[in-house]
Amino acid sequence: MGQKYTSGDGCETEIGGSREDKLSLSGHFPIFKTSILPQPNVNGDFGSWYWNPRLAEGYLSPAFRKTCGIDPNGLDDFFEQFSRILHADDRDEVMALMHNHHANGVGYCTEKRISVDAEHSSYRWVRLRGFSDVDANGVIRLVGGAIEDITHEHAVSQYIDESDNRFATMVETALFPLVITRMSDRSVVYFNSKAKEIFGVQNLVDGAFSVSDFFVDPSDLDDIRADLIASGEVTGRECMLKSYTGTPLWMLLSCNMIDIDGERCSSVILHDVTAQKTLELRLREQARMDVLTDLNNRKAFYENLDVAIDRSARGNEGFALLLLDLDKFKQVNDTLGHGAGDVLLIETARRLEKCLRRGDVVARLGGDEFAIIAGQLKDQARLAALAEKIVATLSEPIFLGEVEVSIGCSIGISVHLTGTADGSELMRHADIALYKAKDDVTTSYRLFDEELSVQVRERALIERELHTAVSHEKFHVVFQPRVDAHSREVIAGEALVRWNNPRAGLVSPDKFIPIAEENGLIVDIGRQVLRATAAQIAQWSAEGLNPVPISVNMSAVHFLRADVVEDVQKVLEEFSISSHFLQIEVTESTLIHDQERVLRQIDLLVEMGCEVMLDDFGTGYSSLSFLHRFAVSTLKIDRSFVEGLMVQDQAPLAKQIVDLGLALHLRIIAEGVELEGQADILAALGCHELQGFLFHKPSDAETFGALLSEKRPGYQNEMIGRG
Ligand code: C2E
Ligand code: CA
Ligand code: CA
Repeated sequence: MGQKYTSGDGCETEIGGSREDKLSLSGHFPIFKTSILPQPNVNGDFGSWYWNPRLAEGYLSPAFRKTCGIDPNGLDDFFEQFSRILHADDRDEVMALMHNHHANGVGYCTEKRISVDAEHSSYRWVRLRGFSDVDANGVIRLVGGAIEDITHEHAVSQYIDESDNRFATMVETALFPLVITRMSDRSVVYFNSKAKEIFGVQNLVDGAFSVSDFFVDPSDLDDIRADLIASGEVTGRECMLKSYTGTPLWMLLSCNMIDIDGERCSSVILHDVTAQKTLELRLREQARMDVLTDLNNRKAFYENLDVAIDRSARGNEGFALLLLDLDKFKQVNDTLGHGAGDVLLIETARRLEKCLRRGDVVARLGGDEFAIIAGQLKDQARLAALAEKIVATLSEPIFLGEVEVSIGCSIGISVHLTGTADGSELMRHADIALYKAKDDVTTSYRLFDEELSVQVRERALIERELHTAVSHEKFHVVFQPRVDAHSREVIAGEALVRWNNPRAGLVSPDKFIPIAEENGLIVDIGRQVLRATAAQIAQWSAEGLNPVPISVNMSAVHFLRADVVEDVQKVLEEFSISSHFLQIEVTESTLIHDQERVLRQIDLLVEMGCEVMLDDFGTGYSSLSFLHRFAVSTLKIDRSFVEGLMVQDQAPLAKQIVDLGLALHLRIIAEGVELEGQADILAALGCHELQGFLFHKPSDAETFGALLSEKRPGYQNEMIGRG
């Protein structure tokens, strides 16, 4: 061929050439600046050439010469020299491309290796391009080409390929499960081997699963997807999943959104916490269980109640809350022992479970107290049917060791209609109904209804008014005379509190005293009655009358929350009256709580000279041992026994009680005497004192004072200046 390449820089810009003077690339590939990679072609050199066949002349840029390390003399020499520097494996292919380009104008672009040293000891990668300019007749006007050193670029992409592989291996063999899912159709794109093992999909084809297959609760998946879409990632979400075969798996899920071939996917890393969770659940289960009966305990019950309320707020179905207690549990415990009591409770639990439907909840709240949440009771008839079924089932005889007993129960029911009440109100209503059921001998269960609701409202109202009455000292005291059983002379009296309520008129103490005991106001009321009584005794004396001892009722709550001794002492001193004019009535219930505290106060009262009497005797819990322990000197036999006197088979009861008191050398007072016949019998039985409407009703101080004898002149007024 013989033509020469023109060597010169004038034409370089026409078809490329050195850009070193126009563009500095230093620092443009920061991410590749790693020492293990060949340095990039920072000079940005790409060599160029062209050949004009018609003129048989061409051009080879200095950069081309530099890149290839050749300095050809003419076209043939170029082919010769260039062929030599090509890698042996690439040589034939490249020469064929180049010849075809020169002869036929066919362009090419290829990446091949060239060696720049004679020994071919190392190679650089170059991108070779050929192009041509052909006229309308198919005649080649110009062929040209370029060479670019891409050794660095090549190394980087190779490095990436290798690290892709390394990364893939790492993920595949990781000790934690990893799953990739496609967002669009929820299919699982990839399970790593740990995930395959855990989910039991070892030998199954990837892509055949939907991620939904592994969620126990589909709403968990929906939540996670929503969060993932909203924020791009979800971390540490605890979910109950399941394996392909259904084994439950507790997992902590962390996922983020990734793009795979243009598709939105989620890569999910799982942390298996099944073992921890199983333990946690077992512990929690135990904490929610009543150990004796395996029923829910109180805590679990309240949680269930909240859930039921929530559910009924969302749906439109209410539920019933039943509170239940056994009628003779205490007797069983006392007479047959705690072992028998336990058997009874366990059996009760089993029977209750049998009465209920799936979804109902039964719990033991403590002692012999059980509670039930029963759903789907659309009408009262069904509710009644359930209550009756429970009563019937529980009253079937049960063997406790050798003994066959039958135990009844009482049930209080409140109904939760959607959005009517909160948990504690429901419990309170059921409790009130239970209380009523226990009181009512004609039925074993009671529904909290409108009537009870009115009672509750009335009670709440009274409670509020009671506070005002106490702070404004709106109480007054009446006095009921007690007479000598034989002479019927007034020898003492009982102080009884009265409350004239501006709204409701006179409210019976039987109604407001229990409320005052519950909220503690009874202590203030007790003090006011004590003070009014002492003041009245002093007043009668000042009026020249001969006062008699007056007994004041003291609530158990007063003994427990305050100091009766102190309060009595204070009024005795304030009004300078002798202690024997003030007597204290306590009920049997006072004696069963905090016995030490009560005992000490009673002892001190007696020491001070105040007589302490046991009121309503026979109705409560006292036993003979009680009577021995307390310094009580007087019994007031309850009105119910006095009433019974005229009923044939009850008469002996009153006699036994009187006999018992006499045997213990106690003074006996019978109260509620309304008939002459009763008074006669009681006197004959040996009672010392009688009290009742037959003789006197409670009356104001003036009327009572009229019954007192006048002081004889010169009579030593023993009450004043005691001590
Ligand atoms: P209690 O201590 O047993 O008082 C006797 C109650 O029987 C009084 O009722 C009295 O009016 C009534 N009573 C007296 N004789 C007869 C009778 O022949 N027939 C009938 N059917 N009833 C008779 P009251 O005043 O309504 O008091 C009721 C209860 O309220 C008292 O029973 C007592 O437990 C309590 N209470 C009254 N005043 C006080 C007080 O100042 N403090 C405390 N803590 N409780 C009081
Ligand atoms: Ca009394
Ligand atoms: Ca009484």
